[in-house]
Amino acid sequence: MSDFRLLINGRFVQGAGTLDVINPATGRTLTAAPRADRAQLEQAVAAAKAAFPTWSATPLQHRAALLVKLAEALEAEQGEFARLLTQEQGKPLPQALWEIDWAIAALRYFATLDLPPKVLKEDATQKIVRQHKALGVVAAITPWNFPVILLIFKVAPALLAGNTVVAKPAPTTPLTTLKFGELCAGILPPGVVNVIVDQNDLGTALTSHPDVAKVAFTGSTATGKKVMASAAGSLKRLTLELGGNDAAIVLGDTDPKDVAPKIYAAAMANAGQVCIAIKRLYVHDSIYDAVCDELGRLARETVVGDGLEPGTQMGPIQNQAQFEKVKGFLEDARQNGKIVAGGGVLEREGYFVQPTIVRDIRDDGQLVREEQFGPVLPVLRYSDIDEVIDRANDTDFGLGGSVWSSDRDRAFGVAARINSGTVWVNKHLDLGPDIPYAGAKQSGIGTELGQEGLEEFTQATIINVANDA
Ligand code: NAD
Repeated sequence: MSDFRLLINGRFVQGAGTLDVINPATGRTLTAAPRADRAQLEQAVAAAKAAFPTWSATPLQHRAALLVKLAEALEAEQGEFARLLTQEQGKPLPQALWEIDWAIAALRYFATLDLPPKVLKEDATQKIVRQHKALGVVAAITPWNFPVILLIFKVAPALLAGNTVVAKPAPTTPLTTLKFGELCAGILPPGVVNVIVDQNDLGTALTSHPDVAKVAFTGSTATGKKVMASAAGSLKRLTLELGGNDAAIVLGDTDPKDVAPKIYAAAMANAGQVCIAIKRLYVHDSIYDAVCDELGRLARETVVGDGLEPGTQMGPIQNQAQFEKVKGFLEDARQNGKIVAGGGVLEREGYFVQPTIVRDIRDDGQLVREEQFGPVLPVLRYSDIDEVIDRANDTDFGLGGSVWSSDRDRAFGVAARINSGTVWVNKHLDLGPDIPYAGAKQSGIGTELGQEGLEEFTQATIINVANDA
């Protein structure tokens, strides 16, 4: 029996069924999680709908104060949350602590925001005011790579704006979301946040539900398309944060020894399971060999293991299905490129892949075209800047990207030509709760974070008053 419960209408309830949560560092069952059925999904949506009128009518400052309480409660249990996160997700404990830190910071950040009415125009004949209204029930659907921060990025702005929430984590990482539900139950009125768990079988029912006003979704592009289709029936508001295949371009004036560790960290963080990880690296011909050698050295030095073991720098792939996918990318790398370091899996229990650097690989190979979502980095050679920008942009994805150079102005000019939602110069993977974050092309629709991200959880209404009537 599991200690975890669904949260529906302020009450902890057993699931209609259960599902096994696997620790990816061992491949063995960690615990059972409650699994909701369709009736429990209906109860969760109904609870959120019933809670909405009262919650949306409370002053925003009151809702902000409750977000601060949630931040304090999370902070008080940071150690337990981080340990659970490592066990269900695989990331090393210091990185799990960092994820919880981030979640706390995001709760506190959103608590500082406001949605004041804005006078757009006022003269002798008219006064035009824009105000923001809560939408209703928000479905918050999250993936398994950052189960806590990606949940908070949705729940915090949704609640501040006056919406109520049904949260649904990925089936392989439901525990930290269920634990967050426990905090919510002690702080928020019943029904304001509900948590259900499925086995990838309730998504359509939730995203097509007539009583759900908005879907805030992070996951793969393939699933994002399904969400968009099923939300179309009632024209729901959507924020879709989807897959990426970020290119990093290293200009020839860069010092390989300086740049390689930064690039390596941005490619291999969370064992490469980051939507905005560097997934393709383009290096100028003049420093190509040196950068490949440095990256290879870093890969060989990385300590891979169970995230709970002190000293571990990289954990396992989060689940078996993704592990099998990454093995396919390794096979492609072996056939179409030259392995500089790594290239295999660890001969031990769990889903461990060696950090792998691949050079001299074809542009049309699977590892370059698709999102690997694992610690396998292709390094490609270029000599002409216009040509490499075309290669970087030759993808349906458009999430992030970066340019590396000792000449910041030149790098800025290149960055401006990359068709992605975020492009960094001399860094990568740098987000902040106050920096709007959005995907271009098939990497998403809408914006998360920042004031702009908050406003996506509202309906803007224009009130247009005749002053001369
Ligand atoms: P996924 O698309 O398989 O699952 C994401 C969530 O959607 C899970 O909760 C899943 O249960 C749910 N789901 C599955 N089928 C559904 C359906 N038909 N309708 C509604 N929901 C459904 O993604 P994943 O494998 O968990 O995560 C990895 C992907 O997420 C990668 O592509 C990664 O790039 C992307 N990602 C994007 C961002 C971003 O901010 N852009 C952040 C993290 C991860």
